[in-house]
Amino acid sequence: MLDAEAVADGPPVDIIPLGGVGEFGMNMLLVACGETALLVDAGVMFPEPEQFGVDLIIPDFSALDAYRGRIAALVLTHGHEDHIGAIAHVLDRVSGPIYGTAFTLALVEPKLDEHGVDAGDRLVRVRPRQVVEVGPLRIEFLRVTHSMPDCLALAIHTPAGTVVHTGDFKIDQTPLDGETFDLHRFGELGSAGVLALFSDSTNADRDGFSGSERSVIDGFEEVFSSASGKIVVTAFATSIYRMQLLVDMADQFDRKVAFVGRSMQQNSELAAELGYLRIPPRLQIRDSDVRDYAPEDVLCLCTGSQGQPAAALPRIAIDDHRHVRLEEGDVVVFSSRVIPGNERAVGRVMNHIARRGAEVVAEQDKRVHVSGHGSGEELKLVLSLIKPRFFVPIHGEYRQLSRHARMAKLVHPATTVLMVEDGDLLRFDRSGGRVADRVTAGRVLIDGTRTGAIADEVLRDRKHLASDGLVVPVVGINRQTGAIEMAPELVTRGLAIDARQAEILRDAPRLLAESIENAPVEERTDPGLIKERIRQDVQRLFRKRAGRRPLVLPIVIEV
Ligand SMILES: [Zn+2]
Ligand SMILES: [Zn+2]
Repeated sequence: MLDAEAVADGPPVDIIPLGGVGEFGMNMLLVACGETALLVDAGVMFPEPEQFGVDLIIPDFSALDAYRGRIAALVLTHGHEDHIGAIAHVLDRVSGPIYGTAFTLALVEPKLDEHGVDAGDRLVRVRPRQVVEVGPLRIEFLRVTHSMPDCLALAIHTPAGTVVHTGDFKIDQTPLDGETFDLHRFGELGSAGVLALFSDSTNADRDGFSGSERSVIDGFEEVFSSASGKIVVTAFATSIYRMQLLVDMADQFDRKVAFVGRSMQQNSELAAELGYLRIPPRLQIRDSDVRDYAPEDVLCLCTGSQGQPAAALPRIAIDDHRHVRLEEGDVVVFSSRVIPGNERAVGRVMNHIARRGAEVVAEQDKRVHVSGHGSGEELKLVLSLIKPRFFVPIHGEYRQLSRHARMAKLVHPATTVLMVEDGDLLRFDRSGGRVADRVTAGRVLIDGTRTGAIADEVLRDRKHLASDGLVVPVVGINRQTGAIEMAPELVTRGLAIDARQAEILRDAPRLLAESIENAPVEERTDPGLIKERIRQDVQRLFRKRAGRRPLVLPIVIEV
């Protein structure tokens, strides 16, 4: 992949993706030049429902050891979990500011609080078109449109040339907040000459344009004008535009709005405080007040679009939510994509909803969801504006990356495509751009039940596993009736068995059996939900009685 073309004089610029290339999630990029390094984003990946006991997946940070003391900034493109979720885990390796827009930082703050990290004045708010300097690197922020407000692309001006990183984007020409994609500046940068473009490949396998956030209006109008009962919409809690559109529609159709589920409530509050979400005060009610209104007067916005067992909608679906019940005539709208791997969990939630007599509306029925990532034509437009010398597709699995690569050659045949994987070290210097080396990269699974200050959380996780061991509760449950067919057993590894733990192991099967028997049938026949219950029960037992935190990985055998 050597390229003989010369780039401008100056120290080489090394760029290493540590996550997000060849997979969806845990986006992170290291940029290093001379004595200075910086990170772009620090995201998580969510475990598949079958990865029991794992709460989060973060990039392996060991490659950062070589840059100890030199990582002078963390630059955030936007506030999605796959870009900010791992910040608390990496922050002690960053010595300088965390740059992000107002809304991005507002989403970061509670995350740091949760981990007991005080970032103090290190959170530095930036605006589009602003420029900050980090050593020899000048970082220019550019507005892009996506499924949430306040998203940025970066133009990193380096001694070797300008590197453009798109962040996540689609080209929404009629954004709900009127803040349009900065196509002008993209064009100017392209005319001035761009060394390398790193661009979002998520929807590279889709043709055409993804469409504006407004394109779901018609679909929702149909739902609102025909629903005779409650309307319950589940979406990602960061989909602020979707919230705004639904709040406006509720206003138009005389329905009150309730946010249900912690992250929905938290994010809507944050967005409203900062002016990104406008809710007329007379419109909003609390989730605990939903039952005081006639169903046809209510809209609920819920968490749980991926079937996550602890979120609001999956609980509502099995009639196990404190405040919200479904009944005949209600409509439940899934206004989000199902993340691959979650299909079965989401399907089960839909079945439970149908069993309650409510109607399920999903993307395949009506246009109630639109992607936040650009399709082929949008990706090509950015390629033709930027005309990069080197093109690096990121944010996608290999098939999307390779589609995007082919597009780049079509748009601009002179572009050199660099296909990279996590851990590839890209070097841009006098001899051009190439993969010059490989560093350690991979995934670290986090059992996030621990909170508190994190001094090297990853190491501590490993230590916990080493000191507190592993517990695997196994139980056989009748798929139809939910009856226990095989009494709970606990298989353990690496548990230092003292008197207290021996007692727990003796009592646990009986306590688990009781807990399972006390669960509603629908929870017992839903492997995802019942596993979550077993995991919490066993964790609680060990924590309360022995002060231990073993990793708990329940196995439910459906009989
Ligand atoms: Zn995003
Ligand atoms: Zn993303």
